[in-house]
Amino acid sequence: MGIPQQGRPKEEIFAALQRFKARDLDWESGRVWAYVYNPGSEIRQVVNQAYTMFLTENALDPTVFPSLLKLETEVVRMVAELLQGDEQVVGHLTTGGTESNMLAVKTARDWARAHRSEVSQPEMVLPITAHASFHKAAHYLCVKPVVVGINPHTFQVEPEAMRAAITPNTILLVASAPNWSQGVVDPIPEIAAIAREHGLLFHVDACVGGFYLSFLRKMGYPVPDFDFSVPGVTSISADLHKYGYAAKGASTILYRNRDLRRYQMFACAETTAYTLINPTMLSTKSGGPMAGAWAVLNYLGEEGFFHIVRTVHEATQRLIAGIHDIPGLRVLGEPAMCLFSFTSDTLHVFQLADAMARRGWYIQAQPSTPFTPRSLHISVNYGNAHQVDALLQDLRESVEEVRQATPIDTENIRAMVAWALQSPDPMAAFRQLMGTVGIQGTELPEELALINEILDILPDHLADALLIEYFNELYV
Ligand SMILES: *Cc1c(COP(=O)(O)O)cnc(C)c1O
Repeated sequence: MGIPQQGRPKEEIFAALQRFKARDLDWESGRVWAYVYNPGSEIRQVVNQAYTMFLTENALDPTVFPSLLKLETEVVRMVAELLQGDEQVVGHLTTGGTESNMLAVKTARDWARAHRSEVSQPEMVLPITAHASFHKAAHYLCVKPVVVGINPHTFQVEPEAMRAAITPNTILLVASAPNWSQGVVDPIPEIAAIAREHGLLFHVDACVGGFYLSFLRKMGYPVPDFDFSVPGVTSISADLHKYGYAAKGASTILYRNRDLRRYQMFACAETTAYTLINPTMLSTKSGGPMAGAWAVLNYLGEEGFFHIVRTVHEATQRLIAGIHDIPGLRVLGEPAMCLFSFTSDTLHVFQLADAMARRGWYIQAQPSTPFTPRSLHISVNYGNAHQVDALLQDLRESVEEVRQATPIDTENIRAMVAWALQSPDPMAAFRQLMGTVGIQGTELPEELALINEILDILPDHLADALLIEYFNELYV
């Protein structure tokens, strides 16, 4: 396919774009319980208008677009205050939680290079519940991830386990407020105390929780301490494009002070082109997400967020109670906000996810680990809070359906995986195996239970390699 020789009429363009969405999940109806954070069409409209107003402006050079400097610093000041930082706390807007977390690791690495010359191979200590973006940071930045187990009942990391993993090469501790998988907050004050004792930096990943937990706290709900009010917390990430309800491409990374933030930045005068100074990862960067974020914070105000959080919180409590009442299902741990996971000791939860998908719902499958059973994850947001009863109704039906269905033959799949592992070319054997369960070439799979089963049984590094093979074929 080449670029069409002659341009196409704009009606045709928009009709085609609309058609491309035909197989997408219908998020507007509130049947998607991840990926989308919908504050309702009126607020979305305000965000969209602000976004398109600044779509073309380029944050690469604040001297050319002072508007973007103002937008960014105002949003960062609002978030810093929300996270109980003082005027020393500084930060930046980034394109997402992954970038924020990667920058926190990059800053720690370069801070250590400047202040800890004895460190030969930098390490960061993180719980197994920490987001994959830290492993991505480790991979990109050559920092060794030292993964610590968790308490299998509370799903929190034990501070003493973090302490035990510290070595002379440790430069950074990481914990979550909350983690994505079970929605529980790690013991931040205890870990912060350990960080201070050892003179270490400590990053709190509040990508999903930063806004929601802060508003809960302000409304008087009990919320564990997780932000800059805790001495020893040196950086925090908080996503605007999750429970800040901004448009996608907006997150924040905040540091305790400028002395630390300095190590995030990159400047380069060694080329024939313009002198470059990038505080974050991107260089050319649209003003759209910044304006969308600024608009939503100002349009909703605290009271608007209180209303949203209260609605979502009540819906979550009802949903959790409803799931507990379905025989065979149980919610894991004590979720701090509006995301949680549930499992079953008698039912195959990946089949349950497929049964829900056939009824038009998306809920996210989570593989097992030595500390967590396989589970299904649910994130409630303002756009799906009204669907709690309908979700519970279909969940009850789906549980019955899966109970009566032929169970997945886990033993047989284990045997096939073992066979593939022993073949002379394991990757080819796995590709063949995945082909038989509907994942090959450029086709997207319809049912995911078998695929999830195989991925869950495989050793992590092989599952990673297989997924890369698949995507390498999928995108032509
Ligand atoms: C979503 C999330 C991230 C990553 O954010 P992206 O915006 O998807 O890059 C990191 N940490 C936690 C806890 C998250 O929930």
